[in-house]
Amino acid sequence: MNDLTEKKPVRHLLGLSGGKDSSALAIYIRDKYPEIHEKMEYFFSDTGAELPETLEYIDKLEDYLCKPIVRLLPDGFKENQIKKENSNEEDGLFGHYLKLHKNYLPSPQQRWCTINLKLIPFERFVGNDEAISYIGIRADEPDRVGYISSKPNIKTRMPFREDGLDKEDIFKILESSGIGIPEYYKWRSRSGCYFCFFQRKEEWIGLKKNHPDLFERAKKYEQLDEDTDIRYTWSSVGTLEELISRPDSVSSKKIIKKSKRLMDIVEDTDDDADGGCLICTL
Ligand code: SF4
Repeated sequence: MNDLTEKKPVRHLLGLSGGKDSSALAIYIRDKYPEIHEKMEYFFSDTGAELPETLEYIDKLEDYLCKPIVRLLPDGFKENQIKKENSNEEDGLFGHYLKLHKNYLPSPQQRWCTINLKLIPFERFVGNDEAISYIGIRADEPDRVGYISSKPNIKTRMPFREDGLDKEDIFKILESSGIGIPEYYKWRSRSGCYFCFFQRKEEWIGLKKNHPDLFERAKKYEQLDEDTDIRYTWSSVGTLEELISRPDSVSSKKIIKKSKRLMDIVEDTDDDADGGCLICTL
């Protein structure tokens, strides 16, 4: 990757999701392009519904980068309102938007969560400044597209693709930095909200096993609208309890074994190609 010849000062931005690719990209930039790292603004869009493992991982990265990772919040929200959601109270950030959407849970077709909790805070953070947004899409993902802003002042760069780095390289970066991968990769394939509707059956089971309290909270959001008789559920096959008790196996992904290499661990659960929430998981 060649350094940019800038005609005017631009902001350099790298959004961290708590996933492997954006994390590896931050490490890569810090170590390989210190002049860009120097100018880089790292940020994390905290939805208030993050897994504890994600928050710990972001803290770990912040230490490694020796730069602050700015926590982006929707307009008008403060960190203590985020904490409400993370500390088991129902009227946190997600609860606020859920009420605004008349308890209609977000889904792949109705991604109001991504818009309100990620995209709008990001575009507000950038404002009208000229900016370059660095995305962790790799060279071995030729068809993958990340979030491309419709705002003309935000340009996108993909250093891994520009430099020809593939998945194996990404794991080497994470391994050699000592940061490793987030703990949730043992039972879940991506970062994002604990109740993310992109999860597979095995991941919901993993949530129940690893965070029974969060599983119960996700269940609580599934409710019957008595006026319309419509039941809102995270999964199209039914309630979470119905989903996890179904005898069929939605996925044939393997169980993680502790002794494996980082890459093997994620290979078993990796969903790079299945079109999940790119802005949330990269
Ligand atoms: S991780 Fe899932 S639930 Fe959370 S904002 Fe992204 S798409 Fe929505």
